[in-house]
Amino acid sequence: MRAFAYERPSHLDEGIALLEQHGPDARPLAGGTDLIIRLRDGSLQPRIVVDVKRIAELDAGIAEQEEGLRIGARTVMTDITQDPRIRRDYRALADGAAVVGSVQIRNRATLAGNICNASPAADTAPALLVYGARVVVAGPGGTRSIPIDEVFVRSGMTTLERGELVTSVELPRPRSPTGAVHVRRTRRRGHDLASVTLACAVSADGKTRIGYGSLGPRPLLVVDETGLLADPAAPDLAKLRLLETMFGEASPSPRSMRASPEYRLAMLRVLGLRAIGIAIGRLGELRRGEAPA
Ligand SMILES: Cc1cc2nc3c(=O)[nH]c(=O)nc-3n(C[C@H](O)[C@H](O)[C@H](O)COP(=O)(O)OP(=O)(O)OC[C@H]3O[C@@H](n4cnc5c(N)ncnc54)[C@H](O)[C@@H]3O)c2cc1C
Repeated sequence: MRAFAYERPSHLDEGIALLEQHGPDARPLAGGTDLIIRLRDGSLQPRIVVDVKRIAELDAGIAEQEEGLRIGARTVMTDITQDPRIRRDYRALADGAAVVGSVQIRNRATLAGNICNASPAADTAPALLVYGARVVVAGPGGTRSIPIDEVFVRSGMTTLERGELVTSVELPRPRSPTGAVHVRRTRRRGHDLASVTLACAVSADGKTRIGYGSLGPRPLLVVDETGLLADPAAPDLAKLRLLETMFGEASPSPRSMRASPEYRLAMLRVLGLRAIGIAIGRLGELRRGEAPA
């Protein structure tokens, strides 16, 4: 590991100033579950690490606001999986956060860090896409809110600009009752990044939104507004045909050690169909007033 300076600012403007001053030579540190590994293996060699955990304005709270839910930048996966509002209204996000690493990792890993690491296999990304999340960032030019779909570029790269920090993630309130789930495929049980990670939301208005990752440089969102995927009576074969077309942009790497492109593409359709079935079932539970399991 190359030596670096360590700063622990107490206020947002100090953190932003440090990041702006040092540009690509600086890296924010939250839970460190991605960053420390990359510092150790030398794939990142910043001259300064800016620990954001003491920044007063970056809170770890989950709060209801008029348009939906706000998740503070320091919120960790454990708190996301346990929050009753997320479990009720954003179930795929609770599911996705619940499979990140292990208990120890989930106690440290932040949602903001998962987004900013920009891994195509990030397990919260599909659900954030499905729910149309917005990422609020603060920087030298002020504050802006970015649709999650415009944040990811490729592994390790986002559209955040020099000096910018994520301050919160906002989830809009679902317009109609929505059943949702996150599913994934890994090579083995236990710690492993996903060969396919996928979230699906079926809403009462007949719309199906599917976010998926690990099949190209960035996680992607596809939407079916025809009502076919949301129709419990529609044949699986018709759904699979539609899914095949919808997943046309998937481009898994042939160089990955995790799975071949053919396997990933096949599993994407299988998991897509499975997730639709679960989401339809959960929508039914919501309509019958049954609490989420
Ligand atoms: C053993 C192990 C298993 C794992 N398993 C999974 C898994 O199953 N699924 C999965 O998705 N991930 C997994 N991860 C990856 C990791 O835990 C997540 O990506 C985690 O959410 C990162 O959050 P963090 O707070 O630890 O971020 P950090 O490591 O502190 O930071 C990650 C990146 O985000 C930047 N950053 C952090 N906070 C901010 C901010 N507020 N504003 C701007 N930039 C910021 C950092 O500079 C860095 O580039 C695993 C990691 C380990 C070590």
